[in-house]
Amino acid sequence: MSKSFSNRDGWIWMNGEFIPWKNANSHIINQGLHYASAVFEGERAYKGKIFKSKEHTDRLFKSAKIIGIKIPYTESEIIKAKDDLIQKMDFKDCYVRPIVWRGSQQMGLSTKDADVNVAIAAWDDWATYFKIEDRLAGLKLITSPWKRPAPDTAPYEAKASGPYIICTMSKQFAEEKGYNDALMLDYRGYVAEGTGANIFFINEKNIYTPIPDCFLNGITRQTVIELINEKGFNLIEKHIQFNEINTFDEAFLTGTAAEITPIRSIDTTEYNVGNNTITFDLMNDFTSLVNSSL
Ligand code: PMP
Repeated sequence: MSKSFSNRDGWIWMNGEFIPWKNANSHIINQGLHYASAVFEGERAYKGKIFKSKEHTDRLFKSAKIIGIKIPYTESEIIKAKDDLIQKMDFKDCYVRPIVWRGSQQMGLSTKDADVNVAIAAWDDWATYFKIEDRLAGLKLITSPWKRPAPDTAPYEAKASGPYIICTMSKQFAEEKGYNDALMLDYRGYVAEGTGANIFFINEKNIYTPIPDCFLNGITRQTVIELINEKGFNLIEKHIQFNEINTFDEAFLTGTAAEITPIRSIDTTEYNVGNNTITFDLMNDFTSLVNSSL
């Protein structure tokens, strides 16, 4: 088991200043914890530089706006705070987690007098989100009984804490049954995504990915689509029916934490994995890209 996140050395940027990691606390009575009144980001730095830092910051502000929070800093202040934090922690390759939450000022559901807090943490022990041996072998997924809700039911374009309970329950369902992750379908029964990553399928030179009309259009997803187009493959965004998943040769997940991770199976459908797959080529291209776009 990895080291607890509440007991580490280092620094956390919180509400405008750097404070020792262990002192970065918020009172237990706060709206963020009780009502999931929070938005966050997940970013990665490679060789000391955050990949797509501006895009992640834009999304953080957009997420906050969608759920009605005004962040009391500018985007440039947040970008600088992230860079300063990584430097202060002396990290080269790490994961970065900005979070914005409503605090303890207001404990009803009203947001009127609620205070807004912002913190940024970074850690370097998520070299891989999934265990390296699982990543190389490809992940085993099971279809979750929980569905991505309709766009008028949850703020799907916001990386908001609330809807993550669906992901947490799906992940728990999968892990309890001995799988690495869950495939989530949407409210219509179309293939949506993994619990913390988008999904792609490959069939010869055609690469398919669901239309992000009720789940996050991941920044990694967008990067991988550019890579796919540059490589001359045929990228098709479409609604994918669940009964189509056994028509593909390969499948993979994309996300900041997951990067590109091959899928070995979904339920009883098996996919090709290994170093003569298109997924493997894309993984190599992605690694070169994130380490070179500095
Ligand atoms: N979907 C969900 C539910 C996620 O948590 C993530 C990770 N943020 C993604 C997709 C992928 O997004 P990104 O590539 O921007 O990390």
